[in-house]
Amino acid sequence: MKAPSNTRMDADYLLVGGGLQNALILLALAERQPEASILLLEREDALGGNHIWSFQTLDLPASAMGWAAPLIEYRWPGYQLHFRESSRWVEGTYSSMSSEQLDRVVRQVAATRANIRIETGAAVTSCDARGVTLSDGRVLHGRLVVDARGPDNGARRGGGGYQKFVGLECRLRQPVSMSAPILMDTRCDQRDGFRFHYVLPFAEDRVLIEDTYFSNDPALDVATLRDGIVAEAAGLGFEIESVLRTEVGVLPMPSFSTFSPRHREPLQGGYAGGWFNPGTGYSLAAAARLAEHLSSVPIDAVYGPAWRRLVRHIRVQSHFLAFLNLLMFGFFHDAQRAKLMERFYLLPDDVVHRFFAMETTLVDMWRIMWVGAPWTPKGWGKRAACPPD
Ligand SMILES: Cc1cc2nc3c(=O)[nH]c(=O)nc-3n(C[C@H](O)[C@H](O)[C@H](O)COP(=O)(O)OP(=O)(O)OC[C@H]3O[C@@H](n4cnc5c(N)ncnc54)[C@H](O)[C@@H]3O)c2cc1C
Repeated sequence: MKAPSNTRMDADYLLVGGGLQNALILLALAERQPEASILLLEREDALGGNHIWSFQTLDLPASAMGWAAPLIEYRWPGYQLHFRESSRWVEGTYSSMSSEQLDRVVRQVAATRANIRIETGAAVTSCDARGVTLSDGRVLHGRLVVDARGPDNGARRGGGGYQKFVGLECRLRQPVSMSAPILMDTRCDQRDGFRFHYVLPFAEDRVLIEDTYFSNDPALDVATLRDGIVAEAAGLGFEIESVLRTEVGVLPMPSFSTFSPRHREPLQGGYAGGWFNPGTGYSLAAAARLAEHLSSVPIDAVYGPAWRRLVRHIRVQSHFLAFLNLLMFGFFHDAQRAKLMERFYLLPDDVVHRFFAMETTLVDMWRIMWVGAPWTPKGWGKRAACPPD
């Protein structure tokens, strides 16, 4: 579908898919380009699906805080890791937000602006450089089309493994006092690759408990894992009263980078465009950087020098992080994989933050490779085991 030059435009920015990526783009544009018209199309009735998104201190660049801060629902001063033989505290804000919060904030912004429209229940059947066709037959045009219809829409596979998990948001019978999340507790039976529990304490009587695997196999038996979490919760210190919500994820951790954006439209954003961290399967950091870019340049200069710099940066990070997956899923199995993760967390806090944020420097790359090597002395980098008083 190539629109003739006199085609009536329905919006400057036509955002296809109302998930994480396009929600971030909409919020960034609303702040930085208040005159721009935006039309967001989402197939479902709500934006954002069914997720809790968590992120670390550098994942959201400081410059993004103006438009992104309202999304943040929970903030903690750092997070805890527990391995069989050691514990580790990583300092630096750790934050979470839910799909409901994303939906709320985006709709609030749209409600105050006549030039921002959101259409839910709008399934797009095809998407091209200047427009989309919807399942009801309508054709809509935009000056810039961003296609971010999520992982099921053309995301390429790059071998490697998966971060897969089942998470239960639980109401607790007995309140617990936890000041920060547990990012990894590996003191559980190890199976299916590398296994750990992940815990987010939302309130004294409400936590998210996830059973997570770094596995070579994407298969996930949700019912069995769900029962397993309920059975193991007491051992983790939680008395579950009821399960409020279940979330399931099978996130690719490719061993070859799938990041290869085209320098032409439609711009493929989010997961489908490879805008995610191969080392974690998480996409918020890369999605925020794309939102920052699109909101910082005029619509006619999207593919200018700043775009090329951003793409080069993400490409280098993506190749390095995918290479780590090649090593981990190809050569480190079972107990060796657990050991590798424990060694990774010997690295200083700022290296860990840059790894998650896709801001790894050349020195960081060397340090990550070196600390992961089996011959590196174990006592090399003792770190804080728990938060400072
Ligand atoms: C359970 C889970 C937890 C995760 N947790 C984190 C986390 O903590 N931190 C992190 O950084 N990453 C996390 N991720 C990974 C990643 O951030 C998410 O997958 C993220 O939502 C990807 O963003 P996206 O915009 O590319 O796709 P999505 O958020 O999936 O959005 C795509 C949207 O497009 C819509 N859509 C699809 N097809 C059509 C169509 N034909 N027409 C119209 N609309 C359509 C979908 O309904 C959906 O709303 C998680 C993933 C999962 C599955």
